[in-house]
Amino acid sequence: MADQPKGPSLKEQFWDPVAGFGVTFRTMFRKVVTEQYPKEKFPTAPRFHGRHQLNRWPDGLEKCVGCELCAWACPADAIYVEGAENIDQPDSDGISQRYSAGERYGRVYQINYLRCILCGLCIEACPTRALTMTNEYELADDSRASLIYEKSDLLAPLLPGMEQPPHPMLLGNDDDYYRGDFKGAEQ
Ligand code: SF4
Ligand code: SF4
Repeated sequence: MADQPKGPSLKEQFWDPVAGFGVTFRTMFRKVVTEQYPKEKFPTAPRFHGRHQLNRWPDGLEKCVGCELCAWACPADAIYVEGAENIDQPDSDGISQRYSAGERYGRVYQINYLRCILCGLCIEACPTRALTMTNEYELADDSRASLIYEKSDLLAPLLPGMEQPPHPMLLGNDDDYYRGDFKGAEQ
């Protein structure tokens, strides 16, 4: 005949629940570690990899030359770039169609934050330091479409002394830009 299963031992019936409450009571008097996010936000480490930024030269021209190296380096296929030629010849309204200090610029630039794992390989691949990462980490949303950031969402703001492209290269020729040898402007 098979053995009957034994019931819980005296230790399991009486001591184990008391021991469990002991852990609860001990924890009640410890320092609270709950973070009151989002009411209280703490700064990240300076090199934290957050949202990307497309940087500008001191005259406002875009540093991105539309080379797509960032897109090729991305292991998650999260970046989409379409490059286009800069045109120095003014159009019929007399406006130069130059957006960057290179031959080309990023006409379309998108990062899909549903795919991005914030690894930073794209910023390592960028030859002009056009692409860097900020400390901004609040990237949650309830809409898939709004998590695909367009160029306008990623471009650095215009600082004092910068002009909104398109406009000609105001700081010298393209070599001057890449050497940082600007005429009459702070970097
Ligand atoms: S951080 Fe990584 S995953 Fe995100 S876009 Fe750059 S390379 Fe792709
Ligand atoms: S961000 Fe950098 S790597 Fe990416 S397309 Fe622009 S210049 Fe090229």
